[in-house]
Amino acid sequence: MTEQAKKTWDNILGYLKERINPQSFATWFGSSRGVELKDDVLLVEFPNGFFIDWIEEHYYSILEEAVNQANGEKLRLAFKAIKQQGDRPVRKKKRIILSHASTKLQERYTFETFVVGKSNEFAHAAALAVSEAPGQAYNPLFLYGGVGLGKTHLMQAVGNFAHRQHKALNVYYTQAENIMTELIEAIQKNQQMAFKKKYRTKDLLLIDDIQFLFGKERLQEEVFHTFNYLYTQGKQIVISSDRPPRDIPTLEERLTSRFQGGLVVDLQPPDLETRIAILQKKAEMENIRLPSNVAYYVASRVKSNIRDLEGCLIRLLAMSSLSGEAVTEQLTETVLKDLLNHGGKVTKEMILRNVVDEFGFTEAELKGRRRTQKLALARQTAMFLIRSLLSLSLTEIGDFFGGKDHTTVMHAIGKVENLKKVDFEYGQKLQGIITRINSA
Ligand code: ADP
Ligand code: MG
Repeated sequence: MTEQAKKTWDNILGYLKERINPQSFATWFGSSRGVELKDDVLLVEFPNGFFIDWIEEHYYSILEEAVNQANGEKLRLAFKAIKQQGDRPVRKKKRIILSHASTKLQERYTFETFVVGKSNEFAHAAALAVSEAPGQAYNPLFLYGGVGLGKTHLMQAVGNFAHRQHKALNVYYTQAENIMTELIEAIQKNQQMAFKKKYRTKDLLLIDDIQFLFGKERLQEEVFHTFNYLYTQGKQIVISSDRPPRDIPTLEERLTSRFQGGLVVDLQPPDLETRIAILQKKAEMENIRLPSNVAYYVASRVKSNIRDLEGCLIRLLAMSSLSGEAVTEQLTETVLKDLLNHGGKVTKEMILRNVVDEFGFTEAELKGRRRTQKLALARQTAMFLIRSLLSLSLTEIGDFFGGKDHTTVMHAIGKVENLKKVDFEYGQKLQGIITRINSA
């Protein structure tokens, strides 16, 4: 069967090779091997666990695409690390990479691997309650927060837990964007009934990134009918979004009027201790001892987003294992410089992150509609910086901040121009942010 495994993997590699740049392909896939094909699971070996993390983080969609294209939906991938790190095996267990066909859940997103801190303890508790008693605790559960703060992880943890506890439960995870594609296809092929049936037979429906439905009336309508149906049947719904329901007026009305038993919880950026704990947890999962000064070094520099935090660690450990260099502060400095630098390119996301770091709100809040004095100032500052550092149009900036009017942006810029002249402390703060952005 090994011959077949090799051929299947080579086939997938062929697909990838044409779609990712040669250097990345050689680095991350060059040393991989298809070793076993059994029960529709293809086992692939990599030099160590960091390759697997990296690939999962960066090449998941394209792998999914490659597999579907080469072998249809039935095939699943499992990755395994072969190399020893020191005298300890990096990863003994094989890991299923592609999601389960029936639930679309990824195995790695569990409660066991989710680190709880002040920033997410409420969301975590609510998610746990829902997974233990789907349809009976909070329904729907609405999770919101900025990019990379754990919404998808937590949501899938609910699914994985419930699926494990109650095998008969029909659990299904999907991105709102996928529903959109499916619905459009259903309409084109005149298969709306099949679409309805698919979603109305779920016991636990997890819909990620629902902000993709905003402004798409027909789709919203369909999705809310589905919610309503499931809800009246006592089925559990979990929704995630980058902003709270109150910033989605059409949704807010429906949620409050139809789903009285629901709960809305947010995920905030983690504090320093939690960031360190996340790094340590991750290292522990890989059987690596992460020096505490290095953990501190990384955690104190990568603040706003857990995805970036993880990205730094994975890259650091991968580089260390490739070069054989020990994980020291010095190596970390080199790697972080490379990574935080974004190739020297200032982007609006990066500006937003820096403002968030300085003012202590979330990216979602800055893009939202709430207007306390401090929040408004942070938002105005971000608008000003994006305008002056990137020269985007007022409309583009308005869009980036959740569809605000260009006059709002204009007002914000005027406000900051004035304030920095009269308020010394604020001027210093602004200068600090600019320096940090430019020297990142
Ligand atoms: P979001 O969906 O909010 O953009 P994700 O759930 O994709 O964010 O999280 C980004 C990455 O950070 C994932 O790899 C996830 O496993 C990890 N992560 C997020 N929160 C935590 C946490 N509390 N503990 C451990 N890992 C986390
Ligand atoms: Mg997500």
